[in-house]
This record gives sequence, structure tokens and C-alpha cells, in this order.
Amino acid sequence: RGRVVESTGSWYEIAYEKNDHTATIKCRLPGRFRLEDHHLTNPIAVGDVVQFEINEDQSGSIEVIEDRENYLIRKSTHHQEGNQILVANIDRAYVVQSLKKPRIKPGFLDRFLVTCEAYQVPVHIILNKLDLANESDQGTIDKFRNLYSSLGYKVLLTSIKNEAALEKLKQDLKDNTSVFIGPSGVGKTSLMNYIEPSINRKVGAISSYNEKGKHTTTFAKLLPLHFGGYLVDTPGIREFGLVNIEPWELSLFFPEMLEYRQQCKFNNCTHSHEPGCGVMQAFEEGYIHPDRYDSYLNILDSLENK
Ligand code: GDP
Ligand code: ZN
Repeated sequence: RGRVVESTGSWYEIAYEKNDHTATIKCRLPGRFRLEDHHLTNPIAVGDVVQFEINEDQSGSIEVIEDRENYLIRKSTHHQEGNQILVANIDRAYVVQSLKKPRIKPGFLDRFLVTCEAYQVPVHIILNKLDLANESDQGTIDKFRNLYSSLGYKVLLTSIKNEAALEKLKQDLKDNTSVFIGPSGVGKTSLMNYIEPSINRKVGAISSYNEKGKHTTTFAKLLPLHFGGYLVDTPGIREFGLVNIEPWELSLFFPEMLEYRQQCKFNNCTHSHEPGCGVMQAFEEGYIHPDRYDSYLNILDSLENK
């Protein structure tokens, strides 16, 4: 039994425990697995827990793909039909934003929080580049932290120059499978390099994955951490999308709306125009933050027009 740590689409590298250390084996996936789910382009992804047999030539053959705790998917695009599982069995996602260069983009953040909620991936928020703060930014930082903490998200304030904060982050990552997501330039690569120096990635590359819209890699990888756990190396992160969410379900993924949506007159209320809407009333009374309601309406709009 082991974990898929790398996938080329035809071979899968599986890490497994063998006499007290971690060994790896390259495995193939029998063709019968490909037929099981027509909506997916790949029946298996990194992070999957599998059972395998070892062949005479020391290669492996995957026999069972165990049920997934959760997974992130890339929606079908005009390049590719069908949804692709990027990574399975994630313990935690970190949505990374920077205070400046680039500045905080609440719309982006909220979209990823919704995605993680919908896929049942526990999520924390990192606000990076705190070293760029001057006195006039303290209000912004406090408001940001207060808002997202009040919604139940842990907010970590970091800077690549603040060792104490980064050591705290490492404690958080230990023995977990974690993924960093966020727009380019916020410091994901810098954080990963600090956490696991052997990764040694080029910092400040505009995008290592997406040159002129073309993907150089299509599959994720699990990078082992020397202190235990994995970091997910994910290409195509910007295309994470919500699959099969109905507009009326969206508010299920806004934690602050849960108690108010129960008061709506209509079961399938989208909280945008309906009479007798508990969420709109809560918003008007100041119980829902205007920026969050704005994000809600934007995401709703994209679901309705997809
Ligand atoms: P990514 O695109 O999210 O992976 O971001 P990178 O790690 O490539 O960083 C983008 C730029 O921001 C680089 O020039 C980094 O040196 C810089 N950077 C990253 N973290 C910090 C930080 O905490 N403070 C400051 N001032 N700059 C940072
Ligand atoms: Zn409503």
C-alpha cells in the first residue's frame, strides 16, 4: 500500500513504507481503471492511496485505488475535454496573498476559499511580504486578519525575512500534505524554497508552468519534506474551478451565510434578488461584510453564465 507521488500519465511513482524507510516503485495502471469514470481524463492522481503488486521485473501494478478524502480538479478547457484530478487527499491548502507587490486581491482569495470549501479541503490563509508594511498599512492588515479569522480561517502573517513566522509555518506543514495556491508573485516559490531547500526553485519566474497559455507540465507532483509530509507541486493552479455547483448551492461555501440562508423564503434562493431573503437582510443589517457579499455576487454570476 502506498501513495502516488508522481505521475506521467503512463507510469506512477508510488512511495511506500518498507522496513522502516520510504521506498519508491514505478507502477502501471491496468487499462480497466480508465473505463470507470468517463468524466475524468485521469483515473488516478498524485496523492492517491493505492494497493499494488510487485511484478517479477520489480515494476509494480496498481490493483486498488482507495477512496479519496478529497481532491482538486481542473475543469475541462478548450484544449482538453473532461475534468482532470490534479491532486487527491490533501490535508490543507494555503491560499497565499501578499500585502503589496501584488496587493491583496479579495476576489481571488474568496474564489479559492469557496473552491476549497466545496471540495472539502481544509484551508488556511497566508498573508506574505509583511516586511513591506509601513505604519499606514497596519489598518489594512488588521482588517484583513479580523475578517477572515471571524469566518473561521486561520490567517498566518509571514515574510520571507521573518524566520520565526516561517518556523511556525513549518510546524503547521509537518506530516501533512499541503498545497500552496495563489496568484504569481505573492511568494509561493520563496516560501517553498525556505521550507524545503532541496526544492531550490527559481524565484520570480513569471510562471514556470504557463508560458503563453501553454502547459509545460500537466500533472502535479508530491515533494517530500525532510521533516515529514509533502508539498504539492501543482501546475495550472489558476484554472481550478468549481465543477457541478448549482447557483443556489454557492452560499453553502460562505461560512458566514449558513445561518441566514435557512431563513430565506425560497429553498433555492440565490440571495441576489429574491423576496424574503435572509442573507440579503443580514447583509443590509451589517452581519455580512460588503466585500464578501460582492465576491459572492461575482462568483454567482460566473456560475449562472457558464
Ligand atoms: P510566486 O510567483 O508566488 O512563486 O512568487 P515568488 O516566490 O517567485 O516571489 C516573487 C517575488 O517576490 C520575488 O522577487 C521574491 O523575491 C519576492 N518575495 C517573496 N516573498 C517575499 C517577502 O516576504 N517579502 C518581500 N519583500 N519580497 C518577497
Ligand atoms: Zn436568500
